[in-house]
Amino acid sequence: MKIPLVDLKAQYASIKEEIDAAIQRVMASSSFILGPEVTLFEKAFAEYCGVKHAIGTSSGTTALYAALTALGIGPGDEVITTPMTFIATASEIRRVGAMPVFVDIEPESLTLDVEKLDEKIASQYDIGDGAGYPINRVTHRRLRAILPVHLYGQMADMTRIEELTNRYGLLLLEDAAQAHGAEYRTPDGTWKRAGSFGALACFSFYPGKNLGAYGDAGAVVTDDDELAEYIRRYVHHGRSAKYRHDVEGGNYRLDALQAAVLRVKLGHLDQWTRARRRIARLYDELLGDIPEITIPRVTEGRRHVYHLYVIRTPRRDELLVALQERGIQAGIHYPVPLHLQPAYAWLNYGEGDFPVAETCARQVLSLPIYPEMTDEQVEYVAQCVKNALSSMR
Ligand SMILES: *Cc1c(COP(=O)(O)O)cnc(C)c1O
Repeated sequence: MKIPLVDLKAQYASIKEEIDAAIQRVMASSSFILGPEVTLFEKAFAEYCGVKHAIGTSSGTTALYAALTALGIGPGDEVITTPMTFIATASEIRRVGAMPVFVDIEPESLTLDVEKLDEKIASQYDIGDGAGYPINRVTHRRLRAILPVHLYGQMADMTRIEELTNRYGLLLLEDAAQAHGAEYRTPDGTWKRAGSFGALACFSFYPGKNLGAYGDAGAVVTDDDELAEYIRRYVHHGRSAKYRHDVEGGNYRLDALQAAVLRVKLGHLDQWTRARRRIARLYDELLGDIPEITIPRVTEGRRHVYHLYVIRTPRRDELLVALQERGIQAGIHYPVPLHLQPAYAWLNYGEGDFPVAETCARQVLSLPIYPEMTDEQVEYVAQCVKNALSSMR
């Protein structure tokens, strides 16, 4: 049996008629840039997230770039984020001229460790009289925002992060690229979706994401009318009317063909999420009592959407090879935390600076998961994991 990490062909086969009709519709209208398809998808996606506005972008990366720009973050500013993420989270902080400051993750959800976050701000920044932004005592830059990443489909600890952004007067920007539809229980007991917490939140519709386009695409979502308007202009050359440019923006628009595909797929997303959860439960049952393995934990008060099903094991590298030999495509998200990436060598971080992220980077293994995966395939993967580990004992 050959099992891919994700199976986009199986998904296309299951919705072929709807997708083909949507693509035909765009072709026949020849409305390829913005237009009704983009507007309709934006409305539907905003509603899905439980916010007022969604603005389509050309990717998750450009969504982050546009969001950071809209928040006025730039040279002289710092943004706190996690080293256990895809590089775009940090590269876009740099792209606007600001500096990423990393804080370690906590070992259960692998999202930002709020204790360490608080300790970092309290110990390294001058809070002054509470007016204005905290100033880094060493770099003298202003701390402007916290950028949590809802890793693998599980949200960061938003209540406690919001306490800190309120206490220190910081902006909150969510990287929700892996968390379409993930939920978090607020202190009053209501469940809110990823994207509805921050001033702004960014999504990716990269093909392999839970809601994936047939190419690159992304979105910024928000409840703030002014920020929404700014981003809508910014991604479209800063344009407010034909030949009138209020700011120097760029071309970071969502493509109409992708919007049409995404709107079809959005109609299936909740059902796909249920399928991902069923697969995760089955993996949990089959792998839960293997001593060398830690199965993904869902923190109380969070609803995981399993963009990835990530186990941890000290025998990760051997297990990865053994699975490959058995036709199973597993993955590693991520083998090198950002602070140890060559691209950030100049930041002078070293081994030991973020021990939890570093240990996870050595131990995480993403097993195949996609909504069309059958129980038989899940059982096969679990059996191969068991066999491979017992042959190593
Ligand atoms: C996928 C991803 C991005 C980037 O999105 P693209 O659409 O590939 O540009 C950013 N952050 C995280 C956490 C991601 O997983």
